[in-house]
Amino acid sequence: SKAMLFNKEQKSKVTFKDVAGLDEAAMEVKEVVDFLRNPEDYTKLGAKIPKGVMMVGPPGTGKTLLAKAMAGEADVPFFSMSGSEFVEMFVGVGASRVRDLFRQAKEKAPSIIFIDEIDSIGQSRGNRAYFSGSNDERESTLNQLLTELDGFETNSGVIVLAATNRADLLDPALLRPGRFDRHIYLELPNIREREAIFQVHLRPLKIDPSVDVAFLAGQTPGFSGADIANVCNEAALIAARRKKDSISRQDFLDSLDRIVAGLERKSKVISPEE
Ligand code: ATP
Repeated sequence: SKAMLFNKEQKSKVTFKDVAGLDEAAMEVKEVVDFLRNPEDYTKLGAKIPKGVMMVGPPGTGKTLLAKAMAGEADVPFFSMSGSEFVEMFVGVGASRVRDLFRQAKEKAPSIIFIDEIDSIGQSRGNRAYFSGSNDERESTLNQLLTELDGFETNSGVIVLAATNRADLLDPALLRPGRFDRHIYLELPNIREREAIFQVHLRPLKIDPSVDVAFLAGQTPGFSGADIANVCNEAALIAARRKKDSISRQDFLDSLDRIVAGLERKSKVISPEE
């Protein structure tokens, strides 16, 4: 049922080993983990631990992965909700879900709440016309979220992580001090970072010595981490279809052809004017 999509508590098995090439974000991320693991180091000095961290970056750059890795490293429960799930809901349901989510997270504190696609509930007024669905519902969900953020105590052991592709669309109310006032920016990976991401996704695969990671990184400018994960899996599927015992450079080249063709199709659909 739809309700099952919400308020999922998970024990995250993801750790920093699964996340590559995010050196830029590393400091902030480690800090969040430390807040959750050693809150008394901060509270004994009278410090207020941040409540909300906004992760901003293009699709597939690892925002969800990183949120799960923070929960995994801190060894705390992970509660998640996706903003886009509210768009088709009846008025009042979104707000009560938000309330439930925070109640559960507080009961299980220390814990992480992750709100994916927060832009679908937290768009600034001027931009809302672009989206279909009930604005009333969005508004009441957003208001409940702001109420919850303001209502829980700093140092309650709950940290709320939110993700968006478009920080410019967000209602400024979300970004005020005491709310999502910390930001982690993720970018598309550069060549060195792509190599590191390939390493992570090649790790579980049976590849033969013809596969050259630096070459693959060089062939994939503009790819996100999610695209790279796709290339690796597609290569494995191709090799399996060819009844091979290991994955070769040629399987990767054929996978790349496919993924590039798919990406080109997708970008034509998304931006027809280009
Ligand atoms: P979206 O904005 O589309 O929700 P996202 O930024 O949340 O995307 P994820 O869902 O975290 O992206 O990434 C999808 C998958 O891509 C991950 O599960 C992982 O397999 C791979 N991936 C993305 N970034 C990285 C990375 N930095 N290191 C390793 N794998 C990555």
